[in-house]
Amino acid sequence: MRMTNSHPVMQKPADSCCDDNWAQVYIGLGSNLGDSEQVLQRACWAIAQWPSVRNLRMSNWYRSRPQGPQDQPDYVNGACCFTTHLAPRTLLAALQQLEMDLGKIKQRHWGERLVDLDVICYGQLILNTPELTLPHPMASQRDFVLVPLQDLAPDLVLPKFGSIQQCLEQLPETFLYAVADTSLCHQPDKRIELLHEKNAEAVI
Ligand code: AMP
Repeated sequence: MRMTNSHPVMQKPADSCCDDNWAQVYIGLGSNLGDSEQVLQRACWAIAQWPSVRNLRMSNWYRSRPQGPQDQPDYVNGACCFTTHLAPRTLLAALQQLEMDLGKIKQRHWGERLVDLDVICYGQLILNTPELTLPHPMASQRDFVLVPLQDLAPDLVLPKFGSIQQCLEQLPETFLYAVADTSLCHQPDKRIELLHEKNAEAVI
């Protein structure tokens, strides 16, 4: 996958950009086709290389049963967080482009997918537009989103929904396997921190 410099996420931050323009965002990742762990890892590496992104960190990866149609493989899920000066809709468009670059083909609703990248929250922003809802409307009801978020920010409070802990206590349904079995790399020292590896070429 090769990104050109004309792509919005490849443009360098404006010199006048001040810290106030950088939002802390959380992205939910999922895959149940192909080599899912590798696909999610590649997605995170690609995002970490966008000049408009700083300090990307990844959660552990987890296994969950599918929601919706049950005749599909189980999922690998995780989350990543970073700061960005991309506007919310530009960020969503960039993530959708990345999904396509990684090889996503749209199939049935809630069906199997090579990669799914959702904006879980963008700072404390609450947004309701046809193309983008923030925080993600289903975030508070999905353990496969909440548990990875907890890895990244145990004290995170989601706008509208409250703390991760509160959301987990009120879950209507669970998808993750028993947590002891579900984490694919649960040792904190194995957690990968991608601290702005800008020297690497933006080629996967
Ligand atoms: P899905 O393929 O199920 O992930 O749904 C993708 C659709 O959800 C896209 O058309 C997006 O415009 C829309 N959408 C609304 N809010 C969000 C969000 N917070 N993150 C990702 N996609 C969103």
